Amino acid sequence: MIVCKFGGTSVASAEQIQKVANIVKSNPARKIVAVSAPGKRSGDDIKVTDLLINLAMAALKNEEIEEELQIVVNRFMAIADGLELDHTICDVIAEDLHERVQGDKSNEELFIDSIKAAGEDNNAKLIAAYFNSIGMPARYVSPKDGLVVNDLPERTYALPEAYANLAPLKSTKEIIVFPGFFGYTKAGILRTFDRGGSDITGSILAAAVEAELYENFTDVDCVFSANPKVVNDPVEIKEITYREMRELSYAGFSVFHDEALMPVYKIGVPVNIKNTNNPSAPGTRIVPRRSVTGRPVTGISADSGFSTLYVSKYLMNREVGFGRKLLQILEDENISYEHTPSGLDDISVIMRSNQITLENEERILSRVKNELNADDVQMRHGFSMIVIVGEGMRNNTGLAARAATAISKTGANIEMINQGSSEVSLVFGVLQEYENQILQALYEEFFAHARV
Ligand code: ASP
Repeated sequence: MIVCKFGGTSVASAEQIQKVANIVKSNPARKIVAVSAPGKRSGDDIKVTDLLINLAMAALKNEEIEEELQIVVNRFMAIADGLELDHTICDVIAEDLHERVQGDKSNEELFIDSIKAAGEDNNAKLIAAYFNSIGMPARYVSPKDGLVVNDLPERTYALPEAYANLAPLKSTKEIIVFPGFFGYTKAGILRTFDRGGSDITGSILAAAVEAELYENFTDVDCVFSANPKVVNDPVEIKEITYREMRELSYAGFSVFHDEALMPVYKIGVPVNIKNTNNPSAPGTRIVPRRSVTGRPVTGISADSGFSTLYVSKYLMNREVGFGRKLLQILEDENISYEHTPSGLDDISVIMRSNQITLENEERILSRVKNELNADDVQMRHGFSMIVIVGEGMRNNTGLAARAATAISKTGANIEMINQGSSEVSLVFGVLQEYENQILQALYEEFFAHARV
């Protein structure tokens, strides 16, 4: 059995959904289909999820919502028309949106989640109806039937029992069309995953039914070794391990959601990233293991928006519990961290800047200074993390030196270096403004001369 997931651009219009139907039909093993909400049809279009967020915001402010709601209904109407479906499906969608807008507003986050999820939920119903209309027996299944998630305040994740609940889908006769992006708590409250989270739903389904393959259909032929918007004509990645993909998607490889790897990784279901607009292209396979041949580096990625908390204290290395106390201060502010490079008497904690506000920054600095008696404490912003990834890096000497030399040629100072213990990645912290130049320099160093 194959579980496939179709992203926003793959289900953005009637024409795209027809391609989806052809892909599903062409292989009878494709029995479970997870779908996103309709995404962008062209560069300046707006995703249905964003339209729904606007609608939720307007409803929260008690503004007139009819126009916003109609825009969403019209998007579905255009799709239904193009697929020659009966208009009653659009009445059902309009009614569903009205009901959601009237829902409980006492918790704004949950209210927005419930509206946001309407894109996926209604699209799944519509696509199931379309499959049936063209003679492909299909059934919409709601995440209510098993995809249980945790309660607030933590970010949404599937509870272990979700997998057992969804396992019976394995014996389905019809094609199952399952909406991506959300689940329900045990108390029946809808919660969405992060943006782009339909990938996560597909992965949960693939793990639950122990699929042979999880196909993730998007709008690119494959994963590239570097961002094609920055590097000219980067090498295509044919095969990549979970670990490599995890490291790359952490820093800007947006083709596949980083949280989506976990469920399939646990069971060892391989993933194939494919293109709905070019389904015969082999795509990129994400596998548990691969033989390491050719170049040592598989990909180079970069992401901006990092801040560094620098703390120094003489004899820090002798102080039992210093690291724990420091990280406790961050935990108290509900902040997660990415790296903690350290020296004998100093440590930097690198975190995503979007977690830091003027208020919590002030609190953190004063607590570190006063409670930990630090000699120096500074918070600095505007960093990028450049990540070089490759299973082959472990057996390769001199790679860090080559990377550092390439970076130094751009004039950028390396503020931090971190090599993961698994040695599949090497991370450099640099000032944001050098990010693109560094990506190009590293690509030149590791890829440009030796196409394998
Ligand atoms: N529709 C959601 C988003 O735009 C989830 C997804 O497409 O994966 O983020």
